[in-house]
Amino acid sequence: MQSLIAAWILPDQLLEPSNHPVLQESLRESGGDQKAVRVLLIESRRHFTALPYHKKRLTLYISAMRHYAGELRSAGWQVDYLREETFADGLQRHCQANRWQRCVAMEALEHPTAQLQKQMAEKAKEFEFNLIVNSQFYWQQTEYVRAVSKNVIMENFYRAMRRQFQLLMDKDGEPEGGQWNFDSENRKPLPKKLQLPKELQFEPDEVTKEVMSDVENDYSGHAGNTKGFNLPVTRKEALTAFDDFLQHRMVDFGPYEDAMSHSKGRLWHSVMSPVMNLGLIDALTMCRRAEAEYRAGRAPIQSVEGFIRQIIGWREYIHWQYGRQMPDLRNANGWNHTRATPRFWWDGQTDMNCLKQIVGRLIDSGYNHHIERLMVLCNFAMLAGIDPEAVANWFLTMYVDSHDWVVLPNVIGMGLNADGGKTATKPYIASGSYINKMSDFCSHCKYQVKKRSGEDACPFNYLYWYFLVENEKKMRSNPRMGPNVLGLKHVSAEERVAITQQAREFLDSLNYYTDPAYEPDDSAI
Ligand code: SF4
Repeated sequence: MQSLIAAWILPDQLLEPSNHPVLQESLRESGGDQKAVRVLLIESRRHFTALPYHKKRLTLYISAMRHYAGELRSAGWQVDYLREETFADGLQRHCQANRWQRCVAMEALEHPTAQLQKQMAEKAKEFEFNLIVNSQFYWQQTEYVRAVSKNVIMENFYRAMRRQFQLLMDKDGEPEGGQWNFDSENRKPLPKKLQLPKELQFEPDEVTKEVMSDVENDYSGHAGNTKGFNLPVTRKEALTAFDDFLQHRMVDFGPYEDAMSHSKGRLWHSVMSPVMNLGLIDALTMCRRAEAEYRAGRAPIQSVEGFIRQIIGWREYIHWQYGRQMPDLRNANGWNHTRATPRFWWDGQTDMNCLKQIVGRLIDSGYNHHIERLMVLCNFAMLAGIDPEAVANWFLTMYVDSHDWVVLPNVIGMGLNADGGKTATKPYIASGSYINKMSDFCSHCKYQVKKRSGEDACPFNYLYWYFLVENEKKMRSNPRMGPNVLGLKHVSAEERVAITQQAREFLDSLNYYTDPAYEPDDSAI
């Protein structure tokens, strides 16, 4: 009789069953006998409490896993869905009860879980552990990226990906439309009259309702709540959400991708990252379908190129940086920032309207779009000198699409420039005038965005100028940051003193939070 093989699939490896590397390898090992394979999905409590994750994030993860068990069963697989304290507990107990001797798993995307798997592969006595290479990212198939030994900037990485996968390339091998990116056409401010397509809602089914109840009971001290959960949780729903984006939002996505609104969070963004990061929809398929919209004349090049750049450029680059920089990245602190996160990052109680709206929406939904994250939240964290690891842990906690591999390079590297400039060559800092240009937040704010210092001056302004004053020498030595400090020559010595004093008083006046520590599931067998 063929001995049983355990196929362990992690919560963010919910790939299409017919293409799943773990299932393919298990089938190969069993000589094609599907009945000799038991698929294990393990809800590890420790994994879900590594930080006080937002309850909508937990609902998304757990509901997607439970639905995936159903998808696998419909495809003929035997599935055991386990709820355990740790991954190791689940594997050990299942192994003892079912007497299997081989386990197939795919390398985790997240470093702590990948380390755990390596330990298991080396030390597990009761079974052999076949750990196969992760194939969830496309850069691994790109000769240029695989061959490169030094750091590359995102633009070069992106061009290599476009060439490799022949995305938006013309027949002469040149970029479609004669240029590689249309960034300059993708920075339109918020239109005066906001007309947005209807939001597609995915009403929770019985499985999701049960998960919502479990999350409220089992993870009661976590951030946010489950109320109003409406994200897609299955492959079918993910595809429906993407179809809806292509049909109703893609056209305006590009020009307004950096715009922000006082009243609406999503604007024309796809919000596909939560399902994409769980493996429910494939990145390259999405890019090809977006390109098809352009080829069919239904979407302009600047929107399609902007979308493809986010996925095959930024997302893949971020994952590549994570692999290059871990484990040091978690503690990188190139600007020596040490403050804790302010309490209003956790409760939204602040008079700064941009932050109040953005954090308020985040607490409610677990989502902000990329410019709100980069140019308001990371910008504030950088100017206020918040410890990069505390910022990263906050992002990991609060966002429905957060994963270690994306948050660490994106926040510590790109947003806070704390990795010595490996991910981005300059910090993304801006005064209130940038926020005012790209949004309507300031017209609803008690602070004066035009004032640099003094009573009611916008805190982003004096914090920005204070940062330049404090870091003038460092900024001047970087050719990309130099232009930021040029404006300092228009600031008198008296005003420098006033700005410095006001910024320090502001920072001293904030209530700070006791930031939670990151404690991943690392219990080995
Ligand atoms: Fe934000 Fe300053 Fe504008 Fe207020 S005035 S919304 S604090 S940028």
